[in-house]
Amino acid sequence: TLRGVGVSAWFGSRRVLEGVDIDMRAGVVTALIGPSGCGKSTFLRILNRMHELVPIATLAGSVLLDGDDIYGTALPITEVRRRIGMVFQKPNPFPAMTIGDNVMAGLKLTGRKAPNREQLIEESLRRAGLWNEVRNRLNAPAGGLSGGQQQRLCIARSLAVRPDVLLMDEPCSALDPTSTRRIEETIHELKDQVTIVIVTHNMQQAQRVSQHCAFFLAAEDEPGRVVEQGATEHIFGSPEDPRTADYVNGRF
Ligand code: ATP
Ligand code: MG
Repeated sequence: TLRGVGVSAWFGSRRVLEGVDIDMRAGVVTALIGPSGCGKSTFLRILNRMHELVPIATLAGSVLLDGDDIYGTALPITEVRRRIGMVFQKPNPFPAMTIGDNVMAGLKLTGRKAPNREQLIEESLRRAGLWNEVRNRLNAPAGGLSGGQQQRLCIARSLAVRPDVLLMDEPCSALDPTSTRRIEETIHELKDQVTIVIVTHNMQQAQRVSQHCAFFLAAEDEPGRVVEQGATEHIFGSPEDPRTADYVNGRF
């Protein structure tokens, strides 16, 4: 379980997030929805300390991974990054590296030794739903794969380090409908093993893949806040806040 507690964020003196509390529970896919610029990606990056790579980003509140503060001394940053993986909107495999080496690339970063390279590559690609398509070309460069395959390769690379949490920032928005479906199937299959948090602008996708949903909104000149959150069917079927109803029904 990953828990954001009172998360606020600033870029310089400008506050972009205020008081975000979300429990992202194991076995539950959490979807973060809301209009452009309301702080979804910023929040996601805060969840694995990725925002520290951006200059002058400051943070208040805390993020707890199974009760341990990821910004505290209990968890070194390498461990945070290993346990909380991330997949981005644009697939970003290392194109000149082989498919197999791409899967293993995360292990180098974490300094972990693979017990059995072949086994881990196969297992990770299977979990990402890509094994059957690439099993005979593991030594081919990743750049030759389609966009959807590259995205599943990035998922496999994230899974190879055996993370507890997988953060996905609009993982399908650069992909065609078929590739999108494949990734949604992968999310379904992973959800009992990995805590998944997905940002999406696709309301159908949020309903298909998530069980918990948080609606972010930044009113003009205001930081992004969570207006409403709860069971996905509740957020879409009987939202309490009129702004949530407007958003999920495509009225802004
Ligand atoms: P989208 O749906 O378009 O991806 P988002 O909800 O992910 O939007 P963020 O990217 O988190 O929104 O941005 C939240 C706010 O923070 C925006 O106003 C954005 O301009 C600002 N912001 C994001 N990154 C930076 C940065 N590196 N420096 C300064 N401001 C930033
Ligand atoms: Mg974003």
